[in-house]
Amino acid sequence: MKKNLFRNTGKRIITFGLAAMLAASALTGCSKSSSVSNPAPSGVLTQSASSNEGAVYTAGTYSATVTGMHEMTVNVTVSETEILDIQIDHQETSGVGEPAVESIPAEILEIQGLGVDVVSGATLTSNAVIEGVKECLKQAGLSEEGINKLLSIKKDEEKIEDQELTADVVVIGAGGAGMAAAVTANQAGKEVIVIEKTGKMGGNTILSGGALNAVEEGSETAVANNDSVEKHYNQTFDGGDQEGDPVLVHTLVNNAWSGVEWLKSLGMEFYDGVFTVTGGMWPRAHKPVEPEGTGFFKTYQNYIDTHTGITMAYNTTAEEIIVEDGVVTGVICTGKTGNTVTVKAVNGVVLATGGFGRNVEMRMKYNEITKKWPALDESIPSTNTSGITGDGIIMAEAIGANLVQMGNIQLLPLGDPETGSLSGNIEHAVESRIFVNLEGNRFVNEGGRRDEMTLALFEQPETKMYIVMDSDTYPQGNELNNFGESIADLVAAGRALKADTLEELAELMNVPAKNLTAGVENYNRYCKGGDLKGKTDEFGRTLFTDTDGINDGINKGPFYAALRVPTVHHTMGGVQINEQAQVMDTNGNVISGLYAAGEVTGGIHGSNRLGGNALTDTVVFGRIAGTNAADFVK
Ligand code: ADP
Repeated sequence: MKKNLFRNTGKRIITFGLAAMLAASALTGCSKSSSVSNPAPSGVLTQSASSNEGAVYTAGTYSATVTGMHEMTVNVTVSETEILDIQIDHQETSGVGEPAVESIPAEILEIQGLGVDVVSGATLTSNAVIEGVKECLKQAGLSEEGINKLLSIKKDEEKIEDQELTADVVVIGAGGAGMAAAVTANQAGKEVIVIEKTGKMGGNTILSGGALNAVEEGSETAVANNDSVEKHYNQTFDGGDQEGDPVLVHTLVNNAWSGVEWLKSLGMEFYDGVFTVTGGMWPRAHKPVEPEGTGFFKTYQNYIDTHTGITMAYNTTAEEIIVEDGVVTGVICTGKTGNTVTVKAVNGVVLATGGFGRNVEMRMKYNEITKKWPALDESIPSTNTSGITGDGIIMAEAIGANLVQMGNIQLLPLGDPETGSLSGNIEHAVESRIFVNLEGNRFVNEGGRRDEMTLALFEQPETKMYIVMDSDTYPQGNELNNFGESIADLVAAGRALKADTLEELAELMNVPAKNLTAGVENYNRYCKGGDLKGKTDEFGRTLFTDTDGINDGINKGPFYAALRVPTVHHTMGGVQINEQAQVMDTNGNVISGLYAAGEVTGGIHGSNRLGGNALTDTVVFGRIAGTNAADFVK
C-alpha cells in the first residue's frame, strides 16, 4: 500500500453578526459536521408575524447551499427589518476563496445591501456567497423587487486622492516571484512596496499543486532516485526542445535547492522525499505540507508580520513603467477608486506580474507564431486566476524590452470540465494513475511531456478524458488531493466517481468496461509484481514505480475516476532577462533599474515547461531579482 503523504483538514465555519461586527472581529471555528442543505422555506427556524408594518423580512434563520470553488452552506438570520447574522459553512481554500468568505458577509451586514464588489481573484466564491445570501433573503419573504433594491445598495467609496509613494525597491505583482523578491530585498535591508492589482497575494502560484523541483546533489533522496542537478538540467532543457537559454536553465537548476533551504529558513515546511508531478518527468518535486501554493504565502505573510519594511499595496494596478534618463525609476498605477498612485524606487524595480494565460487575445495572437494548439479561443479554459493578463509584458514592451518565445504556451490535460481550474484533480503522483478517453481506452504516455499529453487529448472524442486510479492513493476514502480537497467531498459533489469494481466504475464513466479493464490489466503488467516490470510500454511510458517502489498497479477497490479537459496553464514566453534577472531590451542591452522574475519572463523553459519547475522559477529568479534590485544604485 502506498503511504498517504497528505493530511486531512476540516471544514471551516465563519460567522458574521452585528455583535461580531462591533467587536470588529470575525469568529472562526472548525467543524466536521456536514453542511445542512435546506433551500426550501421550511428552513425557517423561527418566525414572527410578517404583517407588522415596516417589516421587510419574516424574522428567522434561513439556509441555502451554493457552490463556489466547493459547495458551501450559507445561513442568514434576519429580524423583520435587518440582516442580523451570516454564517458560512465552507471549504474554500485559505488564501484563495477564503478572503471572499470573510469580507463579503461583513460588507453585506455593514451596508445591509447586496451591491458588494466581488473580491478580485476570488470571483467564484464571491458570487456564491452573494447568491447564497440572496437565496436566504428570498426565503425570508423578500420580493424580486426587494432583491433588486438590495443589489443597488453599495458602499460609499470616496475617491482617494492621488498618491506618491517611495520605497527602496518596488515589486510589481504579489505572486510567487514577486513575494520571493520582496522578502529577499527586505532581507538585504531595504524598504519594499509591493503593488498588487487584486485584493490578496498569491497569483497563479497559490493555485498550483505546490510541487517544487529541486535536487540536493548527492543527498540520500537524490541518490535513491538516481537524480542529479545535471539530470534536472538535461530534462528541463530537452523537455523544452532545447529552446531555453542554457545560461538561465543552469541558473534555475543550480539554485533550486538553495531556494528550498531559504524557504525552510523562513519556516516553510515540506514533506520528506520527492514525487513525480504530471509532466515533471522524474521524481524530484518537493511537496509543501500546506495544500496548493498556500504554504508559500503563509510563509511570506508571516515574514511580513514579523519584520518591518514591506508594504503591500493591494487593489492597485500597475499601468506604466517610469523611465527617467534611461533608468527605470518607478511605476504609475491606478488605485482602487480610480486614483493615480505613483510609486518611485530609490533602488530597483522588479516586474513579477505573471503570464498571459487569461488574456485570450494575446494567447490567440501568439499561438499564431507556433500554431501549436488547434484552438486557444475563449472555449479553452485556463487554470489561471483572472488577473493574469500579460500586463507586465505589455508594460515592458512599451519601454523597449525584448519579448522572447511568446508562442510557447503550455496547456495541461487536467482542467476541471466547467472552470478549467486544477481543482478536482484527483491524481497525487504520475506513477499511480492512468488517463483513458471516453471510450475507456488509454491513449498516451501519462508520464510524458505536458504538451504531448495535451495534444493527444485534443485528438480524443469530445476532447475529454478520465484520470483513473485505485484506493492506494485514498486508503481511508477521505484523504485530500494535492489541492486540499477531500476525495469524499469530490465524490459527493459528483466531481469524482467512485466504485468498488472497475466494471462498476466504467458504468459510472459511461465507457465500455472491457476497454477500461483491458487497459488497466496491461498497465498493471509494468508495475510491481508484473511480468513487464522495468520495461517501457507501447505508449513510451516508463514511470510505473513510485519513489517507495511499491506501486503494484491499479488493482485495489474502491476505484476512482475524474473527468478532465485541456486548459491553458503557463505561458513560457515573455520578457527577456539575463542570469542576473535584468530585463534586456531589443538591442541586447540591459534596461537599467528593471528586473523581472517568474512567468512574466521568457526563454527559460523553452517550448514546454517541466511540471514542478514553475515554483522553482519563482523562488530562484525572485530571489535573484530581489537581491539585485536591492543592490541597484542609479
Ligand atoms: P509568478 O508565478 O510569476 O510569480 P503569479 O501568477 O503567481 O506569477 O503572480 C502574478 C501576480 O501579479 C498576481 O498576483 C497578479 O494579480 C499580479 N498582477 C498582474 N498584473 C498586475 C498589474 N498590472 N499590477 C499589479 N499586479 C499585477
